[in-house]
Amino acid sequence: MSEKKLQPLQAVKGMNDILPPESARWEWLEAKMRSVLQRYGYQNVRTPIVEPTALFVRGIGEVTDIVEKEMYAFEDRADKHGQAEHLALRPEMTAGVVRAMTEHNFLRDSGRRLYYFGPMFRREKPQKGRYRQFHQMGVEALGFAGPDVDAEVILMGSRLLRELGLVDGDHFRLELNCLGSPDERRAHREALIKHLEAHVELLDEDGKRRMHTNPLRVLDTKNPALQDMANAAPKLLDFLGEASLAHFNGVRAILDAAGVKYTINPRLVRGLDYYNLTVFEWITEKLGSQGTVCGGGRYDGLIEQLGGKPAPAVGFGMGIERMLLLLEEVGVAPAAPVPHAYAVVPSANGLPQVMVALEALRGAGVSVVLHPGQSSMKSQFKKADASGAAYALVFGEDELAQGLVAVKPLRGQGGEQATRPLATAAEWAAELLNA
Ligand code: ATP
Ligand code: MG
Repeated sequence: MSEKKLQPLQAVKGMNDILPPESARWEWLEAKMRSVLQRYGYQNVRTPIVEPTALFVRGIGEVTDIVEKEMYAFEDRADKHGQAEHLALRPEMTAGVVRAMTEHNFLRDSGRRLYYFGPMFRREKPQKGRYRQFHQMGVEALGFAGPDVDAEVILMGSRLLRELGLVDGDHFRLELNCLGSPDERRAHREALIKHLEAHVELLDEDGKRRMHTNPLRVLDTKNPALQDMANAAPKLLDFLGEASLAHFNGVRAILDAAGVKYTINPRLVRGLDYYNLTVFEWITEKLGSQGTVCGGGRYDGLIEQLGGKPAPAVGFGMGIERMLLLLEEVGVAPAAPVPHAYAVVPSANGLPQVMVALEALRGAGVSVVLHPGQSSMKSQFKKADASGAAYALVFGEDELAQGLVAVKPLRGQGGEQATRPLATAAEWAAELLNA
């Protein structure tokens, strides 16, 4: 055997461990999100992390940052015929949800309102708010064409932000745009290419390359040197026909009626090619260039493009890490979860009896932490106090011999110390729960 000490391994760059107490903030946020999603009748969907690479190339678009630069794509091991599948870690989940809905013929009878949580993977330069494995909560409403559903998902996102304690205007703002139909985009495209050609000397490498393949994408640039040129570019909004304008105005009328504020950003195009009509982003000024906490829009062509029966759809993806960073930045913090009680055990002899009693309490809904191993009463009480529990349950040998436990309040409003029978734990559990 080698004498050399093995070096500990480290997590992959840009991929983070989420450990306590931080993980409690994640659970808190996820619970808040689920509560809102359920009130709108959205149902949970879980799809694989790995999908055929072609799904994302076809879905997201070949000339996008994600597919060109950011995707973790690889070749699987060859099967017995020497065939290897091209696979990718999902960089987003809409394409996977659409694939699943088509594969299982789920849009046969009616539309579906779905939500998901999960990790996504993009090979970006890691920095605050930008990781290689990050997490999204997303919603997809499939099979609905009207502006009411666009408005519904926006209302849902807006409610979530407000219920988390974030303030519109101070902490976030909503930007809205309409990308029209493919025909309208074609008309705009010609004008846009002319504009880009007239400013070709300004364009960066990405801009030059995309000018003819995906000119709209050039407007998505974050390059400061290109902002004036992009702002002066022909606006897609000016190329919209009646139907697109009616849809856009339909969404706006609902948001206006509901008092949801937004600004129209004619340059908002989103980083994926599948969008049409409504697109939107929630942006914060608090996270630098990682300011988009949530983005989404309508993607009426995607289901057909991925081989399904044509059906309209709309959705959004919200970045969990960025939401948590924003909440931290503005001082919104969930109360740390604390157990109802902490079990102090002076002697190991009584452990079987103690653990049976704790099971009865847990069965009655009480959260109770057992002090691990043997240590002095003083140190056990210190741990009990630090746990934040309202009560210590003290399983002294004398009490145990009589089938009793001492219930000792640790905080102000806990009342007097009392002795309770172990056999009827379920009956007095309520006083621990109500502390
Ligand atoms: P950005 O412009 O910041 O790169 P994006 O347009 O690529 O964002 P989307 O594809 O719309 O992002 O993903 C939806 C949300 O997921 C974003 O609004 C953001 O909150 C989050 N997100 C995207 N990429 C990352 C990442 N690499 N790390 C952390 N969160 C991310
Ligand atoms: Mg991106």
